[in-house]
Amino acid sequence: MKTVRIKKGWRFKIAGRPTDQQEIRLASQTVALVVDKLPFVKPLLLVKEGDSVNIGSSLFSDKKNPDIKFLSPGGGRVSAIHYGPRRVIEEIVISLDKSENQETFDAFTEKALDHTSRDSLIAGLMTRGMWPLIRQLPFRSIADPKSQPSAIWISLGSADPFQPLSQVYLKGQEEFFTFGVRALSRMSDRINICWYGDIPPGFDFLNESVTHRITGEYPATDPGVVLYHTKTTPAENQDWYINGQDVIGIGKCLKTGVYPVDRIVAFSDGTPENSRHLKTRTGIRLQDLAAGLSIGPDKQWIVGGILSGDATASDKYLDLNQTSIMIVDVSPQSEMFGFLRPGLHRLSRSRTLISTFSSALLPVNTDMHGEIRPCINCGYCASVCPVDILPQFTCKSLWADEIEEALAYGLLDCVECGLCSFVCPSKIELAECLKDARKHYHKELNQVA
Ligand code: SF4
Ligand code: SF4
Repeated sequence: MKTVRIKKGWRFKIAGRPTDQQEIRLASQTVALVVDKLPFVKPLLLVKEGDSVNIGSSLFSDKKNPDIKFLSPGGGRVSAIHYGPRRVIEEIVISLDKSENQETFDAFTEKALDHTSRDSLIAGLMTRGMWPLIRQLPFRSIADPKSQPSAIWISLGSADPFQPLSQVYLKGQEEFFTFGVRALSRMSDRINICWYGDIPPGFDFLNESVTHRITGEYPATDPGVVLYHTKTTPAENQDWYINGQDVIGIGKCLKTGVYPVDRIVAFSDGTPENSRHLKTRTGIRLQDLAAGLSIGPDKQWIVGGILSGDATASDKYLDLNQTSIMIVDVSPQSEMFGFLRPGLHRLSRSRTLISTFSSALLPVNTDMHGEIRPCINCGYCASVCPVDILPQFTCKSLWADEIEEALAYGLLDCVECGLCSFVCPSKIELAECLKDARKHYHKELNQVA
């Protein structure tokens, strides 16, 4: 096992970390497949409003590759298809039947799996709705089934304490995880399994299979960061990656022949009593996850991580890939004579605030504490970037339409962690700028191809 130590990053000093306690939250009358959060997918609808569907029925496919199917996370009736600006499909909502029916697929035994060709296995995963769980660097797009990656990276655990603990989602699922790894190993000669920190007692079955032990602060466990620090050839830039929980999903789907919709989510409302792991289902409505809690209008829901996720509303649904839900305060946090205070309780990386020198966990809110100002060349953004990009210069190149220069600075290595924006004292949305540029560059490349 190789130890990869990531030196740059940020230690999450945010209060309200989910405990390893689990609570079951399945009750919901509707679920939805969130479409507009799927990267670079052009949906070709296969259902219309009013249609009956089972768990695992195809709802749409990708126009660029119609073999890649996106399946229903619930059984019932398609009650609404919501469109956003320019008729972009946002979500397909399913009103659930009391007893949900389930599509079934052929199940695999270990022997059958080992004798299935790579192409048939890939085709099987596309039909079973599992393919979108496998992503490809550097754009984080859904993996190109026609490509052959030099390695597939599996992440177990995260340096972000608001993501699910691997010990929690692996417990009792060891058999499916192992089966999922076996299936993935049919698609690449090299499977890299990364564990964050030390493997705890009770997970000895991983001792043989974990290839990389990751240490460091957020976002040390991001596959793009690990790859950046370990790659030896340019071919590795297009490696595939997948989260440990999704490997379990693949194993379960292949072994049982049913489309798995169960999901462990790390939930935090900032309080120690409510922040925990929730055993729920994909596509659940967010407010159903917080049933029984009093969540006022002065709160903001964030899905996917405080620094890299999206702000959303409580009547939205859980995306296919998301596993972290946070509810943070949006109340104005202005303090009387705030500029005279030492900032003991203000979350920041700036050494001008005393909180930097304390290890206490602090509450988080959406207050920016100021307006956007010109760059002061402080270098904070570069000092935290885990893949050694100079975010300020890369963004300046992009604003001047110098894409080649931005690429030379390492635009494609960016892992979209959001740290550079967080630390910037001038409140410049560097990460957003880099994310948009990467998206446009990917679109351009695909138009040319
Ligand atoms: S440029 Fe910013 S968003 Fe990109 S990896 Fe570096 S710190 Fe993260
Ligand atoms: S952190 Fe902000 S102000 Fe400082 S160099 Fe980077 S962009 Fe400029």
